[in-house]
Amino acid sequence: MVQRENSYAQCLVREMRTTLPFLTALFSVMLSAAVTAEKPFSFNDTPGKLPKDVVPTDYSIRIVPNIDKFTFTGTETVKLHVHSPVRQLVLNVLELKIAAASLDGKALPPSVIKIDKGKELLTLALSSELACGDHALALSFSGKINQQGQGLFYVHYQERGSGRKKIMLGTQFEATDARRFFPCWDEPVFRARFQLTAVVPENWLAAGNMPVESEKKIDSGKEVRFAATPPMSSYLNVFVAGELDLIESQVGPTQIRVIATKGKAELGRYALEATAQILQYYNDYFAVPYPLPKLDQIALPGGFGGAMENWGGITYYESALLFDPENSSAETKQNIYEVLAHEMAHMWFGDLVTMAWWDNLWLNEGFASWMGTKCTAYFNPRWEVWLRRNVPRDPTRRVGIAKEQAMESDARSTTHPIQQAIATEAEANSAFDDITYKKGQSFLRMLESFLGEDVFRDGIRRYIAAHQYSSATTADLWNALSEASKKPVGEIAAGWTEQPGFPLVKVKRETDGGVQLTQERFTVNFKNARPLEWKIPLRYSVADETPATLLMTDKIANLQNIPADRALKLNVNSAGNYRAEYDEPSWNLLLAALPKLDVEDRVDLLSDAWALVQAKRAPVSLYFGLVEKLPFSSELAEREQIMNAVDFINRLLSNSPEREAFQRYARSLLRPIFEALGWEPKGGEPPTAGYLRASLISALGDLNDQEIIAGSRERFEKYLTDPASLAPDLRPSVLAVVGRYADQKTWTKLHELGLKTTSIEEKQNYYDALADAIDLGLAKKTLPIALTDELPTSRAIFLVAAVARDSGHADIAWDFAKANMKALLAKTDALGANRYVPSLFTFFSEDTRADELKAYAKSNLPPASAPEVAKSVDEIHFRSELKKRLLPQLNGWLHKKSRSPSSQGL
Ligand SMILES: [Zn+2]
Repeated sequence: MVQRENSYAQCLVREMRTTLPFLTALFSVMLSAAVTAEKPFSFNDTPGKLPKDVVPTDYSIRIVPNIDKFTFTGTETVKLHVHSPVRQLVLNVLELKIAAASLDGKALPPSVIKIDKGKELLTLALSSELACGDHALALSFSGKINQQGQGLFYVHYQERGSGRKKIMLGTQFEATDARRFFPCWDEPVFRARFQLTAVVPENWLAAGNMPVESEKKIDSGKEVRFAATPPMSSYLNVFVAGELDLIESQVGPTQIRVIATKGKAELGRYALEATAQILQYYNDYFAVPYPLPKLDQIALPGGFGGAMENWGGITYYESALLFDPENSSAETKQNIYEVLAHEMAHMWFGDLVTMAWWDNLWLNEGFASWMGTKCTAYFNPRWEVWLRRNVPRDPTRRVGIAKEQAMESDARSTTHPIQQAIATEAEANSAFDDITYKKGQSFLRMLESFLGEDVFRDGIRRYIAAHQYSSATTADLWNALSEASKKPVGEIAAGWTEQPGFPLVKVKRETDGGVQLTQERFTVNFKNARPLEWKIPLRYSVADETPATLLMTDKIANLQNIPADRALKLNVNSAGNYRAEYDEPSWNLLLAALPKLDVEDRVDLLSDAWALVQAKRAPVSLYFGLVEKLPFSSELAEREQIMNAVDFINRLLSNSPEREAFQRYARSLLRPIFEALGWEPKGGEPPTAGYLRASLISALGDLNDQEIIAGSRERFEKYLTDPASLAPDLRPSVLAVVGRYADQKTWTKLHELGLKTTSIEEKQNYYDALADAIDLGLAKKTLPIALTDELPTSRAIFLVAAVARDSGHADIAWDFAKANMKALLAKTDALGANRYVPSLFTFFSEDTRADELKAYAKSNLPPASAPEVAKSVDEIHFRSELKKRLLPQLNGWLHKKSRSPSSQGL
C-alpha cells in the first residue's frame, strides 16, 4: 500500500484545449515521482504454490466418462520444460486417483506418487535428478462427475417438446477446479497448449475450446478429438457433451455457434446475432482480431448459475443465453446481451492476456464488466445501461452492472482493496465479489472519462499487443495507459485499487464566492475506519455551463468564482466513484435547479442522499424531501432508485406498527407514475417503459396496493386460459404479486405450471412466485422444494434464500436450512457453500441473530467462510441500528405530511 498524503500537486483545470500544455507539463513532473507498489509481470515473481522451475508446454488428455456411475477415467501426456534440475515434480490434483505415472517413457513406482489432499498437490519424488530440457510426464487417473458445477458435472433436465428426462455433461474450472478433471499446473501463469480427446455416446454432440479435429466410432460410442488450443491458462478449458443442437454463422474467419439442448438451439438466434455484432466491435476495439477459429456460446440447463469465459467455448446458464421472442421478457433480452458482451470481452481480457495471479482478478472481471457495459450501451442506447448501473439491481446476478452495489459493500468495515493478497484456493474463490467486478468497472469508467475515450482505447491496444498469449499485472495496464495518455495513471489508480473504500467530497460555500471541497473516507456502520485519501478525478458543473475537471490530489481543494446564486453539481453524469455532501445553501440551490438537471445527475443526488441517510450523516427527510421535489417523470433509473429505497424500508419495517402508514406514503409516491403508464404496453414506447411498468407492479404489490393485487389476479386468471394475453415483460411481476397473496389453490396452480414448463426462464418465474407467498403455511410448503430436483441444482438452494427475503419469514427459512444443511450444500460448490449460510442471515435486523450466526459458523462452517460471515454480521448490525434510528424520523416525516394541506390520502 502506498500513502500519497505528501503530494501537493493540485490542479484545477477547465476542460479547455489551451490548458493542455500546462497539464502535460504538470503530469510529466508527477509521472517521474510516481510510485506504485506492484511490479510489472514477471513469471518467477508471480505468487503461487507450484515451483516455477518446471513448466508444462503441451497437454494431451483423453477422458472416458461413465455416465451411469458418475465417474470417469483419463490419461494424459504432459510435455515439460525443466529450467533448473529438480528432484521432484509438483502439480495440482483434487479428488482424482492416480493409477499410474511414467516419466520419459519409464514407469514410476507407485510409492513415489504422493497426494496432499489439503494442499491439493500431487508430488512425484524422483529417484534421480531430472536434467534441464524437455521431458514427458504420462499419468492415468480417475475421478468423479459432480452434481454441482465444479470440475466435470452432469445436468439433469427435461427435454423441450418430449418433456423426457435427459442428462448431459459440462465443466466449470474457474478458479481452481481444472485439477478435478486432469492433473495439471493449475495456476493461471502456467500457460500451455491443451489437446483434449473424449469418448461420448454416438448420438451426442461434444464441444470444447477448439474445433473437432477428428471423430471415430469405437465400441462404447465415439471418440472425439479436438484441435490443440493456443497457450492458455488451465482454468479456461471446457468440455460439454449431450444430445445437443446448434445454429451457426460466420464473422470473417471466425465460425460462431450457439449450442443448446435438443429443440432449443433456435432460441439462440438472438444470441447468435448479438455475438456477431459484439465480435466485430471487439475486433476493432482491441485491434487484435479474435484469435481462435471458432467461438461457441453454449447453453446449460443447470449445473452452474452464471456464465464462464472458457476460451472459444463460453458456457451460460440457459436463461442467460436463450431468448424466446414469444415468452421471454425484455429484461431477459437485455441481460443476455450484457452477459454475452461481458464474457466475450474476456476472450481478450482474461484469455488472450491473463492476470498472472488471483490477486489481480479484478483485471479480468472489472475490465470485462466495464467493456461489456460500454459495448452494450453503444449498440443499445435506449436501454440506459450506464444510467441504471447507479441503481442496485437483482443481487443474484453476478454480472450485475450496479455501481451502487459496489459502493454499498465498499463503505463497510468488511471491504477490501480491489487488489488483494490471495494465498489459498478458498481465497481465490472468494475474490469473485462486488468489489472485484463493480468497483473495478466503476474505477475504469471514471478513468476513461478522465483520460478520454480514444486515449484510453489506445492504451488498451498497447496493453493487449504487448502481453498477448501471456500474463500481466495491474502495473502493466497502468503503464500502457500512462504511455498512451502521458498521465500518471498508476499514481492516480493506486488509491483506488490498492486501498479499500472510497471518498466523500464535502461541498462548502465560502462567503467570498469560493467553494471549499474537503475529502474524507465515506463509511457506513464502520466506526474508527482508517482515514484515507484519494486522487479524485472530479467533474463538476455550474448551472448550465460546460462541465469542468479537477484532479483533487489533497484533502482540501478550492473552486474559485462560483456565483453564490448558481447551483454547483459534483460528479457530472455520475461517472465518478465517490459521494458528495452539500452544505445547506448548495443543497437548496440544487433542489431549485432539479428540473434543469439531467436524469443522471438526479439519480446521482438520490443515491447520495439515501447513502447519507444510511451513513448517519443525514435524516431521512433529506431523502424524501428530495424525492418530493423531483419533477414528474417516468425516467426508469430515477424511479428504480426510489423503489429500491422504499423497498428496503418496507422490509425493515416488517412486523412494525409503523409499516402501514409508511406503505400508504410510499404508494402515494409511486402510484401517479403507474397511472400515467397504465397496465398495458403501448406500441412505440421505449423498452425502459416496459421495465418501469413491471417494476412498479412488483413494488406496489409489495406495498399492499389493493388495485394492483386485484389487477394482477385478474390478469393471471386470463393468462391461465390464454397465455398470450399477458405480455412477457409483465409476467414475472404479475406472477410475483399473485404468488405473494396466494391461497392454497393459487399456490398449487403456480406449482403445477412450474413443474410443467421446460423453459428455465419460465420455471424460475413460477418458483420465484411460490417463494413470495406471505402465508406461513405456504412458505413451509415451498421450502422443501429446494431438496427436490424440480429446479436445476444450481438454483434449487436459492429457493430458501428467496423465501427468507420475499415471504417475510426469514426465521422459518433459516430453521428449515439448519435442519437440511447437508442435503442443501450437496447442491452447491465450495464457493457457494461459503456464502450460503451467511446469505440467509442478511434479511434479519435483530442483533441477537448476529450472535447466532457467529456461533453457528464457529462450530459448523469452514474457516474460508469467515469473510462472508463477517459481511452478514455487519449487515444485521447495520439494519438493527438503522431501524432504530429511522422509526422516529419516519414518524416525524409522515406526521408532518399528514398535516400538510397538499397531502390527500396520506
Ligand atoms: Zn467475468
